[in-house]
Amino acid sequence: MVQGDDSVCCTNHLKGLYDLPRKHMTLAPSNLLLRFSEVCCPCHSQTDQEREDFFDVTMDASQEVPMSQRFQASMVLSGVGDALGYYHGRWEFCNSGKTIHKELEQLGGLKKIVVALPKWNVSDDTVMHLATAEALAEWGCESPDNDKTRLFELLARKYISCMNDMNGRAPGMTCVNSTRLLSSSYQIPFNPRGGGCGAAMRAMCIGLRFPRPEDIDDLVAVGVESGRMTHHHPTGFLGSFAAALFVSYAIQGKPVKSWGAAMLSELHVCQEYLMKSGHCVEENIRTMNNGYFRDAWTKYLQLRGILDGTSEPTFPNVYGVAERDDFVKSVSFDGWGGASGHDAPMIAYDALLGCGNDWAELCSRSMFHSGDSDSTGVIAAACYGAMNGFTGVPENLFRHLEYRDRLLNAGKALYLLTHTDGVITLADIDKGDQPESPGPPPDTGDLDQLKSMVSEGQDQTVVESSEEPGAGASSL
Ligand SMILES: [Mg+2]
Repeated sequence: MVQGDDSVCCTNHLKGLYDLPRKHMTLAPSNLLLRFSEVCCPCHSQTDQEREDFFDVTMDASQEVPMSQRFQASMVLSGVGDALGYYHGRWEFCNSGKTIHKELEQLGGLKKIVVALPKWNVSDDTVMHLATAEALAEWGCESPDNDKTRLFELLARKYISCMNDMNGRAPGMTCVNSTRLLSSSYQIPFNPRGGGCGAAMRAMCIGLRFPRPEDIDDLVAVGVESGRMTHHHPTGFLGSFAAALFVSYAIQGKPVKSWGAAMLSELHVCQEYLMKSGHCVEENIRTMNNGYFRDAWTKYLQLRGILDGTSEPTFPNVYGVAERDDFVKSVSFDGWGGASGHDAPMIAYDALLGCGNDWAELCSRSMFHSGDSDSTGVIAAACYGAMNGFTGVPENLFRHLEYRDRLLNAGKALYLLTHTDGVITLADIDKGDQPESPGPPPDTGDLDQLKSMVSEGQDQTVVESSEEPGAGASSL
């Protein structure tokens, strides 16, 4: 697994990343399992103790976080952001940030909540994000002629399949209805009402698969094409592009204040891809030229004073929970902030700009507000993990997260695909049809007991729905 001279010690991956030439992986036929228990990075085998140490988030914040951890944290924390923002539908569909913060306080705050089944399941966002990531991992490499047809077919199959795992997760109707069209082709008709956030909420891992500046064409192709498999409208699939791009910027270490302007400067690449693809070109170009996505982002960046990509962002002097609720609503398409392709990444980005790398503040701004809080939380947390690893995140929030191991495996696979050379196999990654749920644990905060249950792999249960009718209005 170690890859010769340019495969550096895991503590130096960050330093070595951009020195590496771009390499293509070869995906072996199937069953050399690449389990999390076997390696933590390409350089080291991993013991149980090392696995525990991997989650040691007590490290000095100034210490360099290994790039392998940043990839895995991006995946795992995205699930945390989703589960916290969702809270079994209670907080996703709560229209008051003040109410959510009050209930959070009654639960003991972020340091007391144990994010685990049955109370804190992940929602549709994570299930579809895993589908994207596992398709990317299974695809593995680019074909010699850069034909992505097999990847797109894989993505379509994963999206269809993951709909069997939506009980209690409030899937958006656009995703539900569009995946019914995917069985015959990964290309669905243009949808004038396909501007919801369901494409953006599942795209972050595309930025992990194509993390380098020179990967922009691939990131655009996969971001746009995977997005319009369900949300075939520029507002929808440009949200997918933006979420993926922001994670790639996080991996690159690009200053957060520059992300919005840089994203706008790459929109022409999306337009070029749309024309080259030959699918529904006229509708897409006409709608994109109407400029809703670009105009909304330009207006927002002007509001923060960062349209130039270099200035420091400015926020109102008083910018508490109530004021942020007003902001979330103000940038929305129809009043529910974060429910569209343009404002889900926008609200996540605003939280990243304002949190100063403080995890609790990021949660407050991106997951506990009046809008579509799981979809803004899933994007913001993915970016946080890509920048900081697990640093600063209480372990009770991620250690027992539903699908934690699948998220870790996917992050590891994407790391290996982008940082190593040679043959890896990923059969254990592709378990989308048989969800693994490490719970439900007892309704207790006793971490030792929870650890024991998870390690014994008990109770492979998927929670039943407790949603009210109509809750599926998420991810429009
Ligand atoms: Mg959701």
